[in-house]
Amino acid sequence: MRVTTIFNHILDLPKTTVSNVEISADNLTVIVKLRGKKLHCPKCDFVTKARYDTRPVRSYWRHLDIGKRRLELKSDLRRLKCPTHGVIT
Ligand SMILES: [Zn+2]
Repeated sequence: MRVTTIFNHILDLPKTTVSNVEISADNLTVIVKLRGKKLHCPKCDFVTKARYDTRPVRSYWRHLDIGKRRLELKSDLRRLKCPTHGVIT
């Protein structure tokens, strides 16, 4: 079984899939990709399939540590252009 499949089952994150896992002495970095095609504005009900761009900097979040390793999730987030709120992640 692949390590990405194991982390897909362990983390069970909605609308994402684990694409890579990087292990170092202190960190466990899980790279996730968003599966959804539609982008939703977080401030209103605007929904679109048109992506404005992808953030140039990879976003990351800390998850619960596994053993002695710090677990971080990283993802390239897409941005949309909302007619009300402009370009937003
Ligand atoms: Zn909006």
